[in-house]
Amino acid sequence: MAIIETKDLTYTYGTGTPFEKTAVDHVNLSIEQGEFIGVIGHTGSGKSTLIQQFNGLLRPTSGTVLLDGKDIWAEPKKIREVRFRVGMVFQYPEHQLFEETVLKDISFGPSNMGLEPAEIEKRARDAAKFVGLREELLEKSPFELSGGEKRRVAIAGVIAMDPDVLILDEPTAGLDPRGRDVLLSQIVNYHEVRHNTILLVSHSMEDIARTADRILVMNGGKAAMFDETKKVFARGEELERMGLRVPQITKILAMLQKDGYPVETALTLEQAIR
Ligand code: ADP
Repeated sequence: MAIIETKDLTYTYGTGTPFEKTAVDHVNLSIEQGEFIGVIGHTGSGKSTLIQQFNGLLRPTSGTVLLDGKDIWAEPKKIREVRFRVGMVFQYPEHQLFEETVLKDISFGPSNMGLEPAEIEKRARDAAKFVGLREELLEKSPFELSGGEKRRVAIAGVIAMDPDVLILDEPTAGLDPRGRDVLLSQIVNYHEVRHNTILLVSHSMEDIARTADRILVMNGGKAAMFDETKKVFARGEELERMGLRVPQITKILAMLQKDGYPVETALTLEQAIR
């Protein structure tokens, strides 16, 4: 069964004002439990507005979002539970760190879920491991860490809530190429171990090629394409008309990976060609 489904999902900003704008326009899609979905589309295509409706941060103007077959707004009082099940990592999430220590920061989410202290700490430590934060960093102030480390603390804070669906909005933005590679492989590893559902919003076709089973292409508020990575990348001309370009190397990478070659093979080839 689908974990997330949308039916004619529509979101309009500023209804009835001169600034009225339909940002998400009758989107119908179905995401299966355990899938890794890449979300692409040029700026303003509706990606953020779409994903913010998946965990109830925005309430649809019309249409529905179903989680496990149930309209998430059927009981508005239970929207908090939806937010625990659908975890969201925003762009530049490190700006939201505020606790005295890294461990406390990662524990913040789970500590609001009514869990026992021992369970909270276990989740926080496990989440820190997933994102590769060394044990000795956990008692430091998050503000003493490097930019890449802060980013990982913020992501661990969402992972620690053990969401069924993890949504990441541009998680590698602003990181150097090495930091980007490391973070992406940690996300892929997390997905392989937990088998939860991941939505990765990214401008980077390479990031998407390396990770996604299927790609959702947003264009003018519509779901313009939603298909296997290889099949979407094969529609280069249509993508270009939407202001998106898939570099040749990215297509090769995607093909190799989806055909079962290990990531390392594709990366070695990529480096050799560069
Ligand atoms: P993306 O994430 O793909 O860049 P957004 O969902 O942020 O796209 O934006 C989709 C459209 O909605 C754009 O035209 C944008 O200008 C408009 N929009 C986004 N947020 C707001 C807002 N708070 N008020 C009015 N219009 C908005």
